Amino acid sequence: MHAAGDVRVEDRPEPTIVEPTDAVIRLAATCICGSDLWPYRGVVPVHGQAMGHEYVGIVEEVGADVRTLSVGDFVVGSFMLSDNTCEICASGFQARCAHPQAGGIGGMQAQRARVPLADGTLVATPGPPDPDLVPALLAASDVLGTGWFAAVAAQAGPGRTVAVVGDGAVGLMSVLAARELGAERIIAMSRHPERQALARHYGATDVVEERGDAGVARVKELTNGLGAHGVVEAVGTQEAFLQAIGMTRPGGHLGYVGVAHEVQIPGIRLFHAEIHMLGGPAPVRRFLPDLIRLIWDRKIDPGKVFDLTLPLEQAADGYRAMHERRATKVLLTV
Ligand SMILES: [Zn+2]
Repeated sequence: MHAAGDVRVEDRPEPTIVEPTDAVIRLAATCICGSDLWPYRGVVPVHGQAMGHEYVGIVEEVGADVRTLSVGDFVVGSFMLSDNTCEICASGFQARCAHPQAGGIGGMQAQRARVPLADGTLVATPGPPDPDLVPALLAASDVLGTGWFAAVAAQAGPGRTVAVVGDGAVGLMSVLAARELGAERIIAMSRHPERQALARHYGATDVVEERGDAGVARVKELTNGLGAHGVVEAVGTQEAFLQAIGMTRPGGHLGYVGVAHEVQIPGIRLFHAEIHMLGGPAPVRRFLPDLIRLIWDRKIDPGKVFDLTLPLEQAADGYRAMHERRATKVLLTV
């Protein structure tokens, strides 16, 4: 991305093993993230950035210290690098690994890529996947893992009502996760007919079209005036964040995974809300082994979240389609 709105597909240097803990993979598929739209729309500055952080592919080379992966393995990677051995990783927060690598993950909208900390970042599938499983495995790399983290943070579970703010890919994946985790009632906030239908497919029991204060009022109406036990914030705007806080009942849990650009929470609102809050970049690596298993066994079908597929060469068209909300999520074939 050369500048806001300016995406070009260009040749770059071939990736190589730099550190002994690296792997080089050949991408099987990649995609465009809702968070890639922040620079695309000029909300965060961008100058010649190699884009992409969601990926699945085949290991082509491994460094001398890589232990868990072999050449030829099909792998799913987290969008954040982690060694998966430090104290922070061991406690389940791999996205904030105590040993961050310069540059992090980037440039995955590509044919090949270098992955540092390969053992702690990549997880191999049981074998080569059937082609129809590739989109689902790709979803696990970010949107499914992020939605799952949000649903866990919102403590989705039996007997609980979970409300999801945001009908983008992560919001829809949070609905799927809440259902898998056993939530009794799942309220999806959406005004978009196709996304409402997909939310219901993934397990939403109620759809609320109202936003802001009206959305809060509607969710309270549906929950005996109390608010939801758990709320997922998967947008990252001021209105969505305050709405999510307002919809969470006292003592309830808010999981926030929308990248919170320009969000300011009045301290007094937070004080009186009296809720548990956990969010941030999702530790996808924590969930990957379980998510791969659920996909492999065809228990979940997160791949439906991709509603447009384009060849990598047409990435610019994909960005435009997501920017104009003509597509929820674009898969790029390599
Ligand atoms: Zn770590």
